[in-house]
Amino acid sequence: MALLITDKCINCDMCDPECPNQAISFGQKVYEIDPHRCTECVGHYEQPTCVSVCPIDCIIKDPAHIESEAQLLEKFVRLHG
Ligand code: SF4
Ligand code: SF4
Repeated sequence: MALLITDKCINCDMCDPECPNQAISFGQKVYEIDPHRCTECVGHYEQPTCVSVCPIDCIIKDPAHIESEAQLLEKFVRLHG
């Protein structure tokens, strides 16, 4: 499952530089996560690092992009070869 930044985001830019997959960028109003690049940090970290650094806990699981651990690992391999 990719993660999702809610509209509560305060655009503090803490998460963007920490993402190992370059999945976070500034969107129309707030920061956004590209579901094709977010692996929930599988392959890099034990926990999603964006969630760890977000000061207001506005990053949630994206119900529209449900993936298993194996699928997330496949995505990691695809991204990083
Ligand atoms: S969970 Fe990891 S890969 Fe996904 S957006 Fe956050 S930092 Fe990037
Ligand atoms: S760390 Fe949280 S509040 Fe800051 S830009 Fe990222 S999602 Fe938004």
